[in-house]
This record gives sequence, C-alpha cells and structure tokens, in this order.
Amino acid sequence: MPQSSPDITHEDICMALEEWSFGFARIDPQLDHATQYVYRAVYHAGELSYPGDIHVDWYTTVDVESGQARPKGNDSMKLRFIDVASGDRAAPTQRLYRTTGWAQNLRSTMLTFLSWTQSPPLCPECESVLVHRSGTNGFFWGCTAYDGGDGCQYTAPTAAYSPFEA
Ligand SMILES: [Zn+2]
Repeated sequence: MPQSSPDITHEDICMALEEWSFGFARIDPQLDHATQYVYRAVYHAGELSYPGDIHVDWYTTVDVESGQARPKGNDSMKLRFIDVASGDRAAPTQRLYRTTGWAQNLRSTMLTFLSWTQSPPLCPECESVLVHRSGTNGFFWGCTAYDGGDGCQYTAPTAAYSPFEA
C-alpha cells in the first residue's frame, strides 16, 4: 500500500504544474459544481496527431472556500482530458491518489497522455479519431464520425484503447 501523503498545499500544486509549457490556470470559479481547485491547460498535439484542442483539467484536493487541503478520505485528485470540439473525453479520466508519490504519478500520467496524443486510436472502419464517450452503460470508445447517429457506428470498450494501465 502506498503511504498517504501529508496535506498537499496550493504551492506544492503550482510547483508540480510549472513544468508543463502549455500552462495550467485555475478555472474553478467557472465550474459551479467544483468544491476544489481545478486547473486547466489547453493542449494541441499538432499535425499528424490528435486533431483539435484538448482541455487537460486537473482536479486537486484544495478546497475552494478555505484554500486549504481538504480532509483526507476517499477524495483523490484526477486528470480529465476533454476534446474541446465535441465535449467528449479524448482519453479516460485518471485518478491520482493522495500518496507520497503524487507529483511523480502526475508527471508519468501526463507523459503517457502526451505520447499517446501523437498516435491516438483511429476507427478501424473509417479512420476517424475515437473519443471516450459516456453512455447508459458507462464509458466506451466511439467514433468522431458518429454524427448524431447518422454516421459511423463503431464502438469499443474502454480497455480496447486506453493509453493508461488499468
Ligand atoms: Zn468510424
């Protein structure tokens, strides 16, 4: 079992986010459901890789009201990757537990994500990029050419293409 970490401060978080050149900024005031600080970066993978912008959102453990780390418990930090054009997830959301190695876990998750955007999963039927959609039975990979049901119908389970270890 990994050791639980001491409270993670706002300063710790800023240090951990500083290394990413695409620049995280706090967006929590725009999310009315957020009870913790949320940081967002806009990432663009570039030509011949993931098309369009991705919002990389990091949900922290810092309470919006107090600015202090929230009480320990079942809360965790998480990284969410949103395809800006469709609002679907570009990759499955990743949880990062509040353990002593949290900053290293954040770094390795980011590196995995960045490398994965260089060759995102493509639909075997039409070669459009796949996105991680939410449905009545949970998340699945769907085709960006789905077009509200008129287009490509290809789907696959999360495990089929996840860039992250289960
Ligand atoms: Zn397709």
